Amino acid sequence: MLDCIFCKIINKEIPGDILYEDNDMMAFKDVNPQAPVHFLVVPKKHIENIMALSEGDYELLEKIFKRINLLAKELGIADNGFRIVNNCNQDGGQTVMHLHFHVLGGRFMQWPPG
Ligand code: 5GP
Repeated sequence: MLDCIFCKIINKEIPGDILYEDNDMMAFKDVNPQAPVHFLVVPKKHIENIMALSEGDYELLEKIFKRINLLAKELGIADNGFRIVNNCNQDGGQTVMHLHFHVLGGRFMQWPPG
């Protein structure tokens, strides 16, 4: 997608603090971190959000969640715990229309979210 900020990071058109990359996905630090550890995991394929997934995309989610498990261990947030957030559309607070999972850790997370 031409003017998608995450596609630009994926295509290395703009810099990202990349933690992990393979053919299917990329994980990079959030530019405006809300916790000591805050990174985003995104599919390389431009999919707007969870409502735009098609049948063939679901195996991507399995890979993404497996990778979050590994990254959480690598980044030292697995034992104390962390939060995975996916914001979908306006009421969900989605601001970047490219499917992404926030992973937040390194502090206690309040509930409910605002
Ligand atoms: P959303 O509100 O769509 O769930 O989250 C979008 C996230 O993307 C926000 O947490 C925001 O800080 C992050 N973000 C927006 N633009 C950029 C960028 O150019 N680079 C990085 N690394 N993160 C970004």
